[in-house]
Amino acid sequence: MPTLADKKPNRPAQRAQGRPAAELIFGDLWEYDPAPETADPKIKSRYDLFIGGKFVPPASGKYFDTINPANETKLAEMALAGADDVAAAYRAAQKAQDGAWGKMPGKERAKYLYRIARLLQDRAREFAVAETMDNGKPIKETRDFDVPMAAAHFFYHAGWADKLAYIAPGRRVAPLGIVGQVIPWNFPLLMMAWKLAPALAMGNCAVIKPATNTPLSALKLAEIIQDAGLPPGVVNILSGPGSTGGLIMAHPQAAKIAFTGSTEVGKVIMRSVAGTGKRMTMELGGKAANIVFDDAPLDQAVEGIVNGIFFNQGQVCCAGSRLLVHEPVADAVVAKLRHRLKVLRVGDPLDKNTDVGAIVSRDQLETVRGYIDAGVQEGAKLWQPPCRLPAKGFFLPPTLFTGVTQSHRIAREEIFGPVLAIITFRTVEEAIEKANNTEYGLSAGVWTDKGSRILKMSTELKAGVVWANTFNKFDPASPFGGYKESGFGREGGRQGLLDYCKLV
Ligand code: NAD
Repeated sequence: MPTLADKKPNRPAQRAQGRPAAELIFGDLWEYDPAPETADPKIKSRYDLFIGGKFVPPASGKYFDTINPANETKLAEMALAGADDVAAAYRAAQKAQDGAWGKMPGKERAKYLYRIARLLQDRAREFAVAETMDNGKPIKETRDFDVPMAAAHFFYHAGWADKLAYIAPGRRVAPLGIVGQVIPWNFPLLMMAWKLAPALAMGNCAVIKPATNTPLSALKLAEIIQDAGLPPGVVNILSGPGSTGGLIMAHPQAAKIAFTGSTEVGKVIMRSVAGTGKRMTMELGGKAANIVFDDAPLDQAVEGIVNGIFFNQGQVCCAGSRLLVHEPVADAVVAKLRHRLKVLRVGDPLDKNTDVGAIVSRDQLETVRGYIDAGVQEGAKLWQPPCRLPAKGFFLPPTLFTGVTQSHRIAREEIFGPVLAIITFRTVEEAIEKANNTEYGLSAGVWTDKGSRILKMSTELKAGVVWANTFNKFDPASPFGGYKESGFGREGGRQGLLDYCKLV
């Protein structure tokens, strides 16, 4: 699946003007021909809650706006779910669990998951455009990554539904019951698929809340779930603020809660459910080290570094936000990075050539700007390529910091934006020590020519995922999850299924 790392700088407009290549790369600002995506995202003016297989208005009658972060215009009104709606969703889920769904053989459940996957493929372009408009990420990412990967998760888990005997040989596998799920805004549709597909494959029912900023694709997925004929109440989708998430997590009928979001909110939730006996999985924050050794193929590594931190504007839990670079090649890598960043295209997320889209919200933009200020104040050296940002919307240029030390906030805290902190190292041991010197442990990347070094690093790095000579590669068959303050439990693969069942 192509990601930013696979793309080469896009220069057709400049070639057409007959300008020499060197000037194209090192010139100040480029002029581009826009290539806007025009598929109809089919966005309704108002979305209700999805409870018991039907779209129903919220008990309070309250709605909130979801906006396009690229131009700050309203996209739709979304229902705001409160305590009565959460209770209704759990009642509907219990009815489904006690009824047809709870008794259905795996091979029958699989058919619904296959159907959801296929319907999503049928409407892929529409979903890609809607997701880009609600979230601000470039259309080439939603089109080539988010939507196909969401469908892939439903296909993969459909394949497991009638083979559950093989996930724990010799044991009987039973569903947990109703799972309460809350997801973040950085991969709205994909996180829905990560949560729902394994839960349903194992025979559970779900009450799920999308993030407040990006609820659109979740309610569009509800249309697909309805069209797929999934029995009423198996999936219930409630839009709303954090307090709605709190009600879903705290509900006594939830046999398990699954949360993806910040470490801070994860801790609040863990405290609130402590002692209730609920099963829990937590997918939380990260501060990954992307480690480049002097024997690495540097041009390939630079593409991997760019993909690692600027994919989805750096709003990725496993983003390679710390570049650890071997001293002998540090200057060369920084120079190559600067050249590469000068040709990244920042702007309209619906433009097919855009590399870096909008930050999800004004709040997030201010948070990231705050970190950039902190980096400068603490003495790191800021570099941003010349680039013209759109007048409206929440945009930031790709940002590099050199001269970063381990104590700087930009090296320690999760920024969740297009900001790379560059730190140097001299020895393998120093690289490992610096990479592990974080409260997080979600992912890491290693770039080297030596297989033995890859094995050593992947053994000693305290990270749930270690990529070697690549970054940000995902597959539904591959378990994903963290250590330390990045959470616990796994999503994807056989390990992810084990977190959604009882072994008896
Ligand atoms: P967030 O923690 O602010 O919000 C996540 C979700 O929790 C949202 O739906 C929000 O409405 C809800 N929420 C807020 N307060 C709540 C409460 N008290 N009880 C229950 N739910 C509540 O995170 P975010 O800003 O949406 O997402 C960014 C964070 O998510 C980053 O820290 C990122 O690293 C993390 N993340 C982790 C993974 C992973 O797999 N480890 C994946 C994606 C994102």
